[in-house]
Amino acid sequence: MLIYIDFDNTITMKDLYYYLNLKDMKNCINEKNLINELETIDIFRIMGSNNRIKILDKFFLDLKKKKHRLVILTRNYEKIIECFLRKISLLEYFSAIIGLETLQKYHNKASIKADYLLNNHHILDPFDILILDDSAKQIEHINEKCDWIKTYKIRSFTGLSYFDIINIGYLIN
Ligand SMILES: [Mg+2]
Repeated sequence: MLIYIDFDNTITMKDLYYYLNLKDMKNCINEKNLINELETIDIFRIMGSNNRIKILDKFFLDLKKKKHRLVILTRNYEKIIECFLRKISLLEYFSAIIGLETLQKYHNKASIKADYLLNNHHILDPFDILILDDSAKQIEHINEKCDWIKTYKIRSFTGLSYFDIINIGYLIN
């Protein structure tokens, strides 16, 4: 299965871009140093407890062992996400990061992910596709435009949680 995983409020428990803005680092959003300067307390606020990172780590590792392909699909910047995932040691699980740099050619922000999926996949693709996202709007558009693709809604407040991991298990063969 090909599993597209959203980043903000799915992998994280906070919108990273918003968090960085709050810290007045807006102007250096493309600087890799920005992520490297994040301190343990910032990581804790963005990701939740260390235990949550361990739960995600185990979840992604299990999926990789079962030969699923994991890709980040985000409206955030690819470079920023790459740095952040490397910092929390989760980068190795993802075969690609599709972010704003790639998505910006799709002009309808509300359906930007559905438009990407529609352009890059076909109903006859040889693999099943699953989308994990906290945005009800993005999921609504994907269900509408790409109804052969499975979707699972994450609660923004908690991000991907142990509760979700149990439920997602039922969607994955
Ligand atoms: Mg999100």
